[in-house]
Amino acid sequence: MDFLTPVYLLAALLIGTTLQSSSPPILNEATIFSVGFLVIALSLYKKKINKIVKRVSSARLPTACGSFVVYCYKSMSDGLEHVAIVKGEIGKGKNVLVRVHSECLTGDIFGSARCDCGNQLELAMKLIEEAGRGVVVYLRGHEGRGIGLGHKLRAYNLQDNGRDTVQANEDLGLPVDSRDYGIGAQILKDLGVKTMKLMTNNPIKCIKLKGYGLEVSERVPIVTPITKDNKRYLETKEAKMGHLYSLGTQNAIY
Ligand SMILES: [Zn+2]
Repeated sequence: MDFLTPVYLLAALLIGTTLQSSSPPILNEATIFSVGFLVIALSLYKKKINKIVKRVSSARLPTACGSFVVYCYKSMSDGLEHVAIVKGEIGKGKNVLVRVHSECLTGDIFGSARCDCGNQLELAMKLIEEAGRGVVVYLRGHEGRGIGLGHKLRAYNLQDNGRDTVQANEDLGLPVDSRDYGIGAQILKDLGVKTMKLMTNNPIKCIKLKGYGLEVSERVPIVTPITKDNKRYLETKEAKMGHLYSLGTQNAIY
């Protein structure tokens, strides 16, 4: 789709031009908005149709949750290495139990109680092991819903001073959620997944993955223990970001 490249570059050039004080009068706000929308749409379209990851290697991976095969995928745009762990035969790719997990070093590696990431990852692996078939896609570069580890820790300090997880990102002048799932979708397609039972509490993730041509046959809630340390975080994601939890007593351990 090389013909898209000149259009994309022209649109980017127009936006750059309008941001300068000598903007041509013909480029009014409506034009800027339209061109901006075009850039975003083309960017998403290119991610949908162009291959942006390549499979690098794979190996057997015994874990505390069960035995999997781990695949390494490398992004061709930024060189980041992403991971997929697979259980069983994907076969025709129908109704595969899938977790698309955003990297959270503090939660996944150190077991931080500030969020539910580590517990969700472990639960997803256990559910796949029980089912005998499924995939966890582990996406790098999604730290702090896309703001990066350094900014995430700054946001933690703001949260300790009373801001919630959404307000903290906004106070830092950063997006509340800038995660893109184009790479995740391409990894799933490469593994042969066509329709999936997606383990997530985030309905927007279902919509975003559908936008890349994957079908979500079912959303599987993945609710993990609610504690005094993550309760406000989870409540904020439910109230402001549309996440679905049952914040009832059955999950409370405090
Ligand atoms: Zn986390």
